[in-house]
Amino acid sequence: MNSEAPDTPDQPLQETEQALNKALRELHGIFNTAVMGIALLRHRKIERCNRRMEELFGFAEGQMVGCSTRVWYDNDQTWEFVGHDVYPELAAGRESYSERLFQRRDGSHFWGRLAGRALDPVDVFAGSVWIIEDLTVERAEHEELLLARKVFEVNSEAIMVSDANNRIVRVNAAFEAITGYREDEVLGCDPKMLGSGHHGTEFFQTMWQTLRTDGYWAGEIWDKRKDGSEYPKWVHIDTIRDREARISHFVAVFSDISERKASEERIRYLAQHDALTGLPNRFTLAVHLEHALARAERANEKIGLMFIDLDNFKTVNDTLGHPIGDLLLCEVARRITSAVRKSDIVARIGGDEFVVVLESAHLPGDAGMVAQKILERMSEAVPVDGNDLHTTPSIGIAIYPDDGASSEDLMRNADVAMYHAKSAGRNNYQFYAEHMNQAAAVRVQMETRLRAAMAAGDFSLHFQPQIDLSSGLVSGCEALIRWYNAELGWVSPASFIPLAEEIGLIVPIGEWVLRRACQTAKSWLDAGIKFGSVAVNISPQQFRQRNFPQCVENILRETGLPAACLELEITESTIMETAETAVAMLVQLKDIGVTLAVDDFGTGYSSLAYLKRFPIDRLKIDRSFVTDLEIDPSDAAIATAVIALAHSLGLTVVAEGVETQWQSDFLRQHGCDSVQGYFYCRPGPADIAAEFCRQRAMPGINKRRLLRSLQ
Ligand code: C2E
Ligand code: CA
Ligand code: CA
Repeated sequence: MNSEAPDTPDQPLQETEQALNKALRELHGIFNTAVMGIALLRHRKIERCNRRMEELFGFAEGQMVGCSTRVWYDNDQTWEFVGHDVYPELAAGRESYSERLFQRRDGSHFWGRLAGRALDPVDVFAGSVWIIEDLTVERAEHEELLLARKVFEVNSEAIMVSDANNRIVRVNAAFEAITGYREDEVLGCDPKMLGSGHHGTEFFQTMWQTLRTDGYWAGEIWDKRKDGSEYPKWVHIDTIRDREARISHFVAVFSDISERKASEERIRYLAQHDALTGLPNRFTLAVHLEHALARAERANEKIGLMFIDLDNFKTVNDTLGHPIGDLLLCEVARRITSAVRKSDIVARIGGDEFVVVLESAHLPGDAGMVAQKILERMSEAVPVDGNDLHTTPSIGIAIYPDDGASSEDLMRNADVAMYHAKSAGRNNYQFYAEHMNQAAAVRVQMETRLRAAMAAGDFSLHFQPQIDLSSGLVSGCEALIRWYNAELGWVSPASFIPLAEEIGLIVPIGEWVLRRACQTAKSWLDAGIKFGSVAVNISPQQFRQRNFPQCVENILRETGLPAACLELEITESTIMETAETAVAMLVQLKDIGVTLAVDDFGTGYSSLAYLKRFPIDRLKIDRSFVTDLEIDPSDAAIATAVIALAHSLGLTVVAEGVETQWQSDFLRQHGCDSVQGYFYCRPGPADIAAEFCRQRAMPGINKRRLLRSLQ
C-alpha cells in the first residue's frame, strides 16, 4: 500500500495523464525509430504504420495509412496467397513468421521477414500488428556465405584452415583427395602430420617468420600422403587476423604439383636428350665436354673424344624406310654404350653420328681399345623385322690436350680423323694426326672443284671395248667418266667418284653419264657400228634412288637407244648391302629390258643363295684376280671357280684388267666369255672406241697391228 497520500484530488489524474503521455511519446519514439517496419492492420488495411514501414516500401510520410496491404505485393494472387497463409496461424493464437518477396512502390523487390500477431485471435481481421524486417543485406550475406562454402568445397586446390595454435579446423574435399586423409582424421591435428621430413627446421622457421612479418608465404613443400607416398605441393599460406589484429587463422591452399614437375622434368630431359635413342644430344654433350675439359685441365689428365659415323646408314634408311633405320640407330646406340664405361659419355649428335667422351688415365691407348671394341660389337648383324642388317662404323679419335685444347678443336679434329677412317676403307678407327687437316682441306677444295665441274660441264666419257673370246668381235663398251681440271690435270674417277658419292653429287653426275653413254651408243647404232652394248657404271647411291628405273627408262626413250643395247654395271657390294630391296630393284630394271652385270665380282663376299635370286646376266671378274693370275695360284683358282659358278647359274663372264696375252689365253681356256683390258684396248674417246669396233668387225684385218695403232 502506498503510505503517502496524494496532495490534491486532481493530482493523481494529472500525473496519470502525464505518465500516459510520456509513455505514449516514448512508444511513439520507439515506433518511429524502430529499424523494422511496424503496422497495425484492420481487415488487411493499414490503419497505422511507422516511418520505417513507409521507407521500406518507398512511400512518403503518411501515405501508406489507409492503403490495403495489397500495396506490399506485386499482384493480387500473391496478396491473397499470403492472406491464406498467415491469418489461420493468427486465428490459432500463434504468431506468424515468414519470409516474403515484397514489392516497393517503384516496382522493385526486396526480401523481408514478416512477423504478425492478432490483437484478438477470435477476430484476426479486426486488428493485427505486423513487423517487416528488410532482409536484403542478410540475404546477400547469406548468399555470399553459401557461395564461399561452395567455393571452398568444390575448389580443386586443397584448402586447410588452422587456428591460431596451428590446429586444423577445416579442410575441403580436394584436401581429402590429395592427402588421402578424411576431415575427421585431421581435425585438431598439427599440419606437421602431413610432412615428409625432407625439410629441415630452418626451412619452417623461415616460413613462419615470413608469415608473421608479411602475413603471407608461398613455396614448394614435399609432403607425405596417408599411404606414405611423397609428393611435391605448391602452397600459399595466408594469415587471418581478428579485429584486434591478432592472428586467428591460417589458410593454406595447395595443389599437388607432381604431374607438373614430371612434365617439367620430361621437357628438361627432352631438351637434353635425343628423343630416339635417349642418349644425350649435341647440346648436353657440349656441356659435359666443357666440364670434362675443365676437370682434365685441373688434374693434368687426358681426354679422348671419339667421333663415330655409320658407313651405310643412308642406304638402310633409303631402302628399308625410316622406322627400320630408327630401330637400327637404337641398337647402335645400345652397342656403343655397352662398349664404354658407365662414367663415359655417349651422345648422338646427328642422324648417324655419335660421340664418345672417354676419361681415362691410359689415353690414348684406351681410346684405341674402346674403338676396337665398338667395331667388334657392331660387326654382328642386327636382326630387324626379318632382315639381318649390317652396319659398320668409321671412328675418328682426338686426344686432349695433344690434338686440341678446346672442345671445338677436339670435335673438329675427331671429325677429320673420322673422315680419314672413311677414306681408309671404312669400318676402322683412326687417331687424329696433323697431316689429316691438310687432307681435309684438300677434300674441301676438291668438293668445290667438283661442283664447279658439274656446273661447267667439264666431264667427258671414254669407252673401253670388251672382246668376245670366241668370235673376237666387240661384245660391249664400258663407259668411263673422265674429268680434266685446269689446275689438277686429269683426275682419276677412282678418287673423285667416292667424293661425289659422299657429297651426293653422284646422282646428277651418274645421270649425265647415263645420258651421254646412251646418246653415243645411239649414234654408233645409227652409223652401223657393231659395239654389242654400252656398259654404264651405276653407283650405290644411284641404285638406291627409288625412281632409278624410271630415270633409265626416260633416258632410253629420250635418246632412242633400244634397252637391249644398254648394260648396267652394279658392284657386288652395292647389291649385297641392300640384298632384300636389291632384288626388287633389279627386277624392275630387268623388266625394262636392259642387261645387268655384277661389277668387281669376288671382292664383296656374295652369298651364293642371293646370287641365284638376282635376275642378273653377267659377272665381271674383278681386276685384282686377273692381275696376279700368273703368279698367284689362289687367284687363278678363284677366277676358274667364278667362271664355273657363273655358267652353272646361266650367267656369262667378263674378265676386266686383262693386260697380257697369257691372261687372255688362260681365261679363254677356262671358258671365260669375254675380256676387257689394256691388252686389247685402253679406254679412249668415243670416236677411237668406235673406230676399234669398226675394225674388229672387219674380217681379214691384222688385228694386232690395229691394236697397236690404237694404243
Ligand atoms: P671399274 O668399274 O672397275 O672400271 C674399270 C677400271 O679399270 C677403269 O678405271 C679402267 O680404266 C681400268 N682398266 C681397264 N683395263 C685395265 C687394265 O688392263 N689394267 C688396269 N690397270 N686398269 C684397267 P677408271 O676409268 O680409272 O675407273 C675407275 C673406277 O671409277 C671404275 O672402276 C668405276 O668404279 C669408277 N667409275 C668410272 N667411271 C664411272 C662412272 O661413269 N660412273 C661411276 N659410278 N663410276 C665410275
Ligand atoms: Ca665397271
Ligand atoms: Ca670393275
